[in-house]
Order: sequence, then structure tokens, then C-alpha cells
Amino acid sequence: MHSNNESVERFVSRPRPMLIGGEWVQAASGRTFDTVDPATGTVLATVAEGDAADVDRAVAAARGAFGSAAWRRMSPMDRGALLHRIADVIEAHGDELALLESRDNGKPVTLARAVDVGTSVKLFRYFAGWPSKLEGSTIPVSPRGGLRVLNYTTLQPVGVVGLIVPWNLPMSMACWKLAPALAAGCTVVLKPAEETPLSTLRLAELLAEAGVPDGVVNVVTGRGATAGAALAAHDGVDKVAFTGSTETGRAIVRAAAGNLKKVSLELGGKSPNIVLPDADPQAVAEAAADAIFFNQGQTCTAGSRLYVHREIFDEVMDAVSARARKIVVGPGSDPATEMGPLVSARQYERVTGYVTSGQEQGARIAAGGGRPDLGERHAGGYFLEPTVFVQADHGMRIVQEEIFGPVLAAMAWDDVDDLVAKANDSPFGLAAGIWTSDLGHAHRIADELQAGTVWINCYNLTDPASPFGGFKQSGWGREMGRKVLDLYTEVKSVWVNLD
Ligand code: NAD
Repeated sequence: MHSNNESVERFVSRPRPMLIGGEWVQAASGRTFDTVDPATGTVLATVAEGDAADVDRAVAAARGAFGSAAWRRMSPMDRGALLHRIADVIEAHGDELALLESRDNGKPVTLARAVDVGTSVKLFRYFAGWPSKLEGSTIPVSPRGGLRVLNYTTLQPVGVVGLIVPWNLPMSMACWKLAPALAAGCTVVLKPAEETPLSTLRLAELLAEAGVPDGVVNVVTGRGATAGAALAAHDGVDKVAFTGSTETGRAIVRAAAGNLKKVSLELGGKSPNIVLPDADPQAVAEAAADAIFFNQGQTCTAGSRLYVHREIFDEVMDAVSARARKIVVGPGSDPATEMGPLVSARQYERVTGYVTSGQEQGARIAAGGGRPDLGERHAGGYFLEPTVFVQADHGMRIVQEEIFGPVLAAMAWDDVDDLVAKANDSPFGLAAGIWTSDLGHAHRIADELQAGTVWINCYNLTDPASPFGGFKQSGWGREMGRKVLDLYTEVKSVWVNLD
């Protein structure tokens, strides 16, 4: 761990440039911005502040690489081998990347190692198998006049893709998009969130080490309103893939209209976690607490609306609240920490605003709600206790709006049809959970829920092989699995006259 500490200290001690066309460069404007350590509120590192001029340079580099023989003529097997080498270097630097992620985002280092790094490795391993399996078809067409033809399709890379990612799972969200984009043969301009650019910059160094040709992956660090907006609007970008807030998703759709680039979106959620009366109250309580408090509640799938059948409501909520009180809150770099600080001062204001709103609208705090006392050193950190609201009501803001923090709103229910109607009465449709010993009943409810993912007697499981995405305003398209390759490929239909 000591040498990882040293590597991270060395990395943050120098201003970090961006990667464009294989060169590490400053912003054309010469401007920089600071990224902050959420555990202390102090500056962690200084990063180049790219804007539209740097996006122009990066798109030109990606366009050049897309047309280059080194990338275009790389065989599918070789592209697969490259993706395996990327997985290898991420794995080899896993502890260092986890510590860097934890310092920049605030999350527990153990979580960063298991989830952020672990997922990134798995993604590249899974997608390493795909380049050699992107098959087209031969189609039995019926042309007029009995002409004999061969009609076949091929899958071709969509071109230069802009990837805009959020701060909650910085490196793994980048890899969710990078791995399939590279598998399909695209080239990339990647913009990390301004709160958490560091793991992406380190990853970019490792990609070069793994042998990714210059210009195939470019990283522009900068703000959403400038660098992000320029990338979404750029005429030289063929597709943009975005994860973040629904509001920014709308801005991206508007910006993409200029050249009608393809758009895929992973947006917010307000996921219902449903407990039937025959579920084991203690086991469910533990899982329901994990479903909301995982990653400081900063997860688009967070089980933020907990619907427990009235017969077992008090027992379940007493146990959820007891678990919430026991969660060890502390700096992410401490291996004993179970929940770190929120990512930023802005996010802290936003989440604590919802805590106040819940109280004002009449919900009752059963656990948390305040700022834990972690001593002088962490007095400037963005720490919040895991917070449980009971007596929440459907019309309250804490039930309707995405909080994106460790705040649970729990409600008792009596009638299953009314429960399903309430669960579906949301602009979001990302995920849902169902807890019961009656699997038939669980399947029937799953069928009625408007959600891209339904977990039965489990929560927050994802896998590179399984499609993920949202109904309604939770997004467009599906990431991961075979499905995601549709987002990064175009189908070409070729007709050959055989007569
Ligand atoms: P955001 O949507 O503003 O930021 C996500 C990314 O988009 C960042 O890289 C940002 O720089 C970029 N961006 C911002 N404005 C842009 C624009 N106009 N054009 C192009 N790119 C732009 O998210 P946020 O403001 O940091 O967080 C606010 C809320 O977003 C959260 O509270 C939560 O509701 C949601 N969120 C969701 C996810 C998710 O995984 N679904 C992740 C993070 C945040």
C-alpha cells in the first residue's frame, strides 16, 4: 500500500495535462482547474481546463486515427488482444487506481478496488471477445424479375465517438463506454466529470502502455458547459454516449441535433425497492440498507424508495435504521470506512437540502440526518450520516425526485395493485427490487414494473454480459452485453448482382 500511496502522491503533485493525439498537452487557453479531496475540502490536484478549442484538436486526432491503417487494419483478433492487455494493465495497477479514485471521489478504497477497478477489468475482458464475433448476415432477398443477387450485411464502427461520463463511478463509467467502443473499432474523445478527472487521466497513461495507438483514445478534461457541450455539438463526432443527470441528457440531445449524431443516454433513477409480507425482515433490512447506501447513495440505481408491506414495516424499518446507524462513515482512504463523504460541496448542499425538505414536508427521520463528527482534520469534508426517513408520502419531493445521496424514503403499503401503480408513477424507469419467498408473485410484479432492470431477492448486480439501461426518462439505449455493440456500429447492406 505504501508504494501505491507514493504513486498517487506523485501523480497528484504535478499539474495534469490532457491526452490529445498521443501527446500530453495543456489546454490551448493555458487555463487549469482544481479537483478537491472530498474528505477534507482541500485541493487535491490541478488539471488542464480544456474547452471547445481542445475538443476541436481531440476530435481531429480521433478522426485521423479512425482513418489510419494502424487502427483500421488492425485485425479483429489483434483488437481483442489489445483489449485483454488493457484489462491486464488495469489489474496490475488496481490498488493504485483504487486509491486515486478514492482520493478524488471520496468513496471507500475497498469499494473502489472491488467495484470501480474490478468492473473495469471485467468489462475489457468481456469485450475483448467481441471484435472477432461482430458478424453480419446473408439475407434471402426476393428481387423483381428473378435477378439472382447476393445480399449481405456487415457491421462497421460508427466512427468518432464522444464519451461524457459522471463522477459517481468515474473510471468504471468510462470503461462501460470505452470497452465496447474500442471493440467495435471506433476512436474516442473522452471527457471525465470535472469533480473526478484523475483516474481517467491515469487510465489514459495505462492505455498507451497497453499499446492503444496514438489518437485512438483522447481525453479532454474540462467543464460540462464548455468542453462537454462542445463535444456533444461537434460536427466531427458521429456518436455521443452520456451518463449523468436527466437535465444534462436533454441538453446533449439538443446539442446533437446539428449533425444528427447518434446519442445514447444513461440518466437518473428513483428506483422502488419492494418488500412483500412473506420476506425475511432481517435479511431484507440489511439488503435494503446496502441498496441505498452503497457508494454514498450516489448511484443511479440506488434503491431510494423503499415500499415495505405494512405487516412487517416496523420490524424491517427498525432493522434498516439500526444498520444505518452502524455504518462506519469516514475518509475513503481508511480501509475501515464503509461510507465516505459526498463528492463535492455542491452535492452536499443538494442532498442536505433534500433532508430539510423531507422534514418540512412531514416525513420522520428514523436514523441519521446530520453531519458526523470526524474531528478537526475532516471538518471541511462533505460527510453526511446515512439517513432513513419513515412516514414518507408519495407526493413528497424526497419520494419524487432523485436525491443522489444516502437518503432513504420508506413507505408502508397494503394493496399490491396500488403499490405497483405508485412504483411506476415516476418519470424515471431505471431499476427496481422485489423481496419475497413467492417467486411466482415476484415474476408477476416484475412483469408490471416499468424498469430497465428488476432484481428479485438481490440488488445492484450488474455484469458486462447483461444489458443495462432505462425506460422512460432514465435513458436511451442499453449498455453492456451484446446490445451495446449496436450503439457503436452501423449496419451496411451490400447487394451483388450474380447474373
Ligand atoms: P451532470 O449530468 O451535470 O454531469 C455529468 C457529466 O456531464 C460531466 O462530465 C459533466 O461535465 C458533463 N456535462 C455537464 N453539463 C454538460 C453539457 N451541457 N453538455 C455536455 N456535458 C455536460 O451531473 P452532475 O451535475 O454532476 O450531477 C447532478 C445529478 O446528476 C446527480 O445528482 C444525479 O441526479 C445525476 N447523476 C446521475 C448519474 C448516473 O449514473 N445516472 C451519475 C452522476 C450524476
